[in-house]
Parts: sequence; C-alpha cells; structure tokens
Amino acid sequence: MEIAIMGAGLSGLACAITLEKYGIKPILFEKRSRVGDRFVNGEAFLPALNRPINDCYAYLAEKHGINLHPVSNIKKITLLSETNKATLHGHLGFLNIRGRDHDSLECQLSRQVKSEINFNSQIPYETLLQDFTHVVLATGDAAYTAKIQDFQQDLTVTLKGATIEGSFDKRHVGIWLNNNFAPQGYGYLLPFSEKEATITLGYPDYPHNQRYDLETLWQKFYRRVCKDLHQELRITDNFEVTRYMFGTCRNPRIGNTFFAGNCVGAMMPAFGFGQLASILSGIFVADDLCGLGNYNESLKPLKQSYRYSLAVRRAMEQLDNHKLDVLVRLCDSELVNSLITSQNFNLLKMLGFILQPYLWKTRQFHNYA
Ligand SMILES: Cc1cc2nc3c(=O)[nH]c(=O)nc-3n(C[C@H](O)[C@H](O)[C@H](O)COP(=O)(O)OP(=O)(O)OC[C@H]3O[C@@H](n4cnc5c(N)ncnc54)[C@H](O)[C@@H]3O)c2cc1C
Repeated sequence: MEIAIMGAGLSGLACAITLEKYGIKPILFEKRSRVGDRFVNGEAFLPALNRPINDCYAYLAEKHGINLHPVSNIKKITLLSETNKATLHGHLGFLNIRGRDHDSLECQLSRQVKSEINFNSQIPYETLLQDFTHVVLATGDAAYTAKIQDFQQDLTVTLKGATIEGSFDKRHVGIWLNNNFAPQGYGYLLPFSEKEATITLGYPDYPHNQRYDLETLWQKFYRRVCKDLHQELRITDNFEVTRYMFGTCRNPRIGNTFFAGNCVGAMMPAFGFGQLASILSGIFVADDLCGLGNYNESLKPLKQSYRYSLAVRRAMEQLDNHKLDVLVRLCDSELVNSLITSQNFNLLKMLGFILQPYLWKTRQFHNYA
C-alpha cells in the first residue's frame, strides 16, 4: 500500500501516527511551508459536547497512543448575554493552542510523525490519486470535498478573531451570546497564557445577515469584551475566515480516497468545535486501511453528534436577545452546572434529541446555498 495524505493538520497527522503504529509509512503533502504555518489562536475541548469521552487527552493517549498536552484546564466559563451573566465552574474542559506556536496541537502531533512530509506542495488530488494506491484528503477545507462529491452544506460562518494582550486567567473562558454583535452566533475569549488570549466573533452567512457590516460588529464585540473584562486590551494580531463550511459529505470513502477532518464533516455546528472529531476521523481512516475497522461504521457516532449539534444550533438561532437573557439566567444554577460537569450525562445528546424538530422546521428556510 502506498498512501498519500493531503494536508498535515489534525486529521492528516493523526492518520499518519496511527498508520506508523501499524508499520505503514504514508507520505504527507502539505501546502504550507511548515506544520501549523498560520495564525496563532486558542481553541477549546469541551467534554460536555464530546461525551462519552470526558478527558480527550487521556482518551487519545490510552486508547490511541497519541500523547498531547493542553495549555490549561478550564475551571470556569462565564456566559454573557445582553444583560445577564452566568458562571459555570468545575472541570469544564481544556484550552489548547493552534497554529505557529511550538506547542500548538498540530506541532505536538507532527513531532510524533516519522513519515516524510512534503511542504509547499501544490500537487492536486488527481495527481496523488494516480501516483498512490490510496489518498487521504485532510485539507481542512470542506470546499475541497464539495468539488469532488456531494457535500450537504448546512451553513457557512464568517469568523473574525484577534490575539489580545492583557491580564488573563488561563483557566477562565468567556462566551458571549448577544445578537447585537453576534447575530445568531457567538463571541468567545480563550486565553492561551497569562498575557495573551484569542477573541473570536462568529456568525452564520444567512441572507438576512448580509446586511451587517463585519467591521461594525467586530468593534462592538471588542468594546464589549474590554468593558466586561475591565481592561483596555491591545490587539497584536488578527485573522478572518470567510464562508467556513459546516456540513457532511455523502461518502466518507470513495474507492481508494478517504475524506478526513473537515473534509468529511467533523465541524460541529453548535459552537464550531471540530478538533477531537478531526483527530478521531484520521485515526479511523488508518484503522480501516489496516483492516482493523470500517471507516463508515466508526464515523457513525460522530455523524450522530453532528446531527445533535446542528439541532442545538438551529434552536439557538431562533433566540432573540431577550430569550438569550433568559437562557443565560437559567444556566446560572447549580442544577445546570452539575448537568454540564457530570461525567455520566450526555448533554449534547439530550439537547439534540429534544431539539430535533428544529432540524425539520428550519430546513427550508436555511436551504439558501
Ligand atoms: C477560528 C477557528 C476557531 C476554532 N475553534 C475551535 C475550538 O475552540 N474547538 C474545536 O474543537 N475546534 C475549533 N475549530 C475547528 C478546528 O480547528 C477544526 O475542526 C480542525 O482544525 C480541522 O482539522 P483538519 O485536520 O480537518 O484540518 P486542519 O487542522 O486545518 O489541517 C488542514 C491542513 O491541510 C493543509 N492544506 C490545505 N489545503 C491543502 C492542499 N491543497 N494541499 C496540501 N495541504 C493542504 C493546511 O495547510 C493544513 O495544514 C476552530 C476553527 C477555526 C477556523
């Protein structure tokens, strides 16, 4: 077997590590000049959205032999709506870093890869398919998949973010639910050191949201973060991602091509989390290639989580600021706190199941793409 992996990101690298474990050395093709050669940002793993996996770092190490470490444990999340605030506490998840940083998840993964990585690759998929027996598409971009096969696009999102300098608690995350600057979306603050954090604003590109000017929304968000943190935060870097696609592809595998990470549909629509699903999809591809699993079957739980997550998003999109205020007030209780932190309670599954009717109610409305 000669395996090409297109893309040395989370799913591609996890696939390579797993293949190597079984004695197969793939060749990776990465379009950038090194692993993680993009903006630096903080990202999170939230167990409440990943159950039954509670500690994804322990899970990846013990079950799959992939050793990674976070920047910090999340001990506190503050939810902020227009006029309310809720505080969640306990073991709420992990913060990690992405991009150019030496300890970014992709750099940690790449240090475990022994196979050859060809950087600055411009080799298209079609050429790889001719030269190798198998190709793993792991380019992190669902748009690439959509050129090859049916991709059920559920939404696209505009994301704008920045690195800010200030004084932060690495264990404390902020999430803003406020249509004044994040229409049907969210803003969040993820510190990756005591002095630096990422703030990100994301909202869906529905036709009725086109009337908003991104820069105006961003200024409102930035000012609100400064106000809530009682700090004048200095922006040192920024990024913008347009039309970031959420959806799933019809065929995780076509012939000898496997689709992994965002290419298969690993991005969870509710809050835009996709790291764990991407890493797992890369591992599952390798298992299939080594005759130790069936990729379609292994993906089933992730596909189900995707549907639950989409139902939650669709329901939340219906909430105006008044309802978001009520939601945030409800979250400020010990009962909700214990449901979120309870290791035996699958919150996403429960919410996704109850909210399933929103998938059907809003389908026609959102079918604009
Ligand atoms: C702003 C932002 C914030 C996010 N926050 C979170 C979060 O807090 N928690 C969470 O779980 N998820 C988060 N996500 C999602 C998460 O980052 C992705 O789901 C995950 O990185 C996808 O992994 P992947 O392997 O599919 O792609 P990536 O890790 O992006 O890797 C793709 C690789 O393919 C390379 N590539 C692209 N095109 C080509 C080509 N033609 N040839 C060769 N190589 C190519 C790229 O350079 C890159 O190295 C966020 C995403 C964004 C954009």
